[in-house]
Amino acid sequence: MVDWLPPEQQMGVRFSLVPFFKMKSIDIHSHLDSCPDIPEIVRECREKDIVIVTCGTDIESNRETLELKHEYPEIEICLGIYPLECLEMSDEDIEKEIKFIRENEDKILGIGEVGLDLHTVNDLKSLEKQKKVLGKFVELAKELEKPIFIHSRDAEKETIEFLEGFDYKKIVMHCFSGGMNLVRQIVQNGWSLSIPSSVKYNEHFQKVVEITPIENLFCETDAPFLHPDKIQGMKNTSVSVLESYKKIAEIKNLDLKKVENEIWDNFEIIK
Ligand SMILES: [Zn+2]
Repeated sequence: MVDWLPPEQQMGVRFSLVPFFKMKSIDIHSHLDSCPDIPEIVRECREKDIVIVTCGTDIESNRETLELKHEYPEIEICLGIYPLECLEMSDEDIEKEIKFIRENEDKILGIGEVGLDLHTVNDLKSLEKQKKVLGKFVELAKELEKPIFIHSRDAEKETIEFLEGFDYKKIVMHCFSGGMNLVRQIVQNGWSLSIPSSVKYNEHFQKVVEITPIENLFCETDAPFLHPDKIQGMKNTSVSVLESYKKIAEIKNLDLKKVENEIWDNFEIIK
């Protein structure tokens, strides 16, 4: 029950955009280029009707990601520069990469993975550079009218405050670890949160699901990272996204098909 939103936002009745004969799950955030045995993952996702969205993180990974789109046209791709990667790049190289992404506009679903990270580096100079780069990517997403997928590790509040300066709604906070007050702020801003498959055991994400309307949710794996069964050394894959769907259905006491349907609608709206 979402009782903290104003009544007009609680009225969320909408007609499904999904044809009833087509039902698909979507892993809105992964790194297929870093996964072992890519053909097998793609095959399994095809069999289980799971759409893979994979994100680039640097110059090399963006090109590999484009290659994957060429090889497997059914996947969706995003291109971006991971916040820690941008610290290693000159302003000129960043501009070149943004130009490259713009040139591939017709092949991408959105921008990502981009954002702010204060987990590994925590100094003002790095934060300023990360913000400058993130700002450029938000402007690019706005220009292309595409969604942007945001990383915000240990910089949750800073990231939200920064993004609020852009007046843009197609924002998806990936694997968001901030407090519930910040989760509410994200929803009030009309943005979305993507729930990793680790929600199977992770109480923080279970709480996020509880307080977030389904209209603001997506499911993700961040594969090959964050395996839902915490098995040491075991690589995660997009197939695990079904764990997020199942847990959301359980927490919200909804039919699994209803959850798939709603989240597919969210995808149709944001893409
Ligand atoms: Zn990621």
